[in-house]
Amino acid sequence: MMKSIKDIPWECGKGWWPMIEKVASAIDSFNAAHLDSPAEVSQIKQKFGGLRIYHHNAPEDIRQLIDKAIEASWHTCEKCGSTTGVTTNLEGYRLTLCPDCRKEIKPRKTIRKRIELHIKK
Ligand SMILES: [Zn+2]
Repeated sequence: MMKSIKDIPWECGKGWWPMIEKVASAIDSFNAAHLDSPAEVSQIKQKFGGLRIYHHNAPEDIRQLIDKAIEASWHTCEKCGSTTGVTTNLEGYRLTLCPDCRKEIKPRKTIRKRIELHIKK
């Protein structure tokens, strides 16, 4: 049984899942027609505020689809999928969020402390 991109964990907020679903469908149909050399996705995650999709053996059109999803992640709230007023800021760690979701994030105390220490120097 071939492993689908849908079988690996999507280590990011649900706001990005529709973009990943598009990639997943394209890969599944490509793989159904290319059983000998399927495209593989080893990891999907959020890193430094952007979507990362690690893939192998994907054809040009799927690579473009992946690049499009990654580009869109910088303008799409990772939590709710909104594209209004989305920014990528440091709140303890870098996140791409809309203003409403950003309000719910509390900066990590240790990082804030570290920043204060740095300012004192
Ligand atoms: Zn949001």
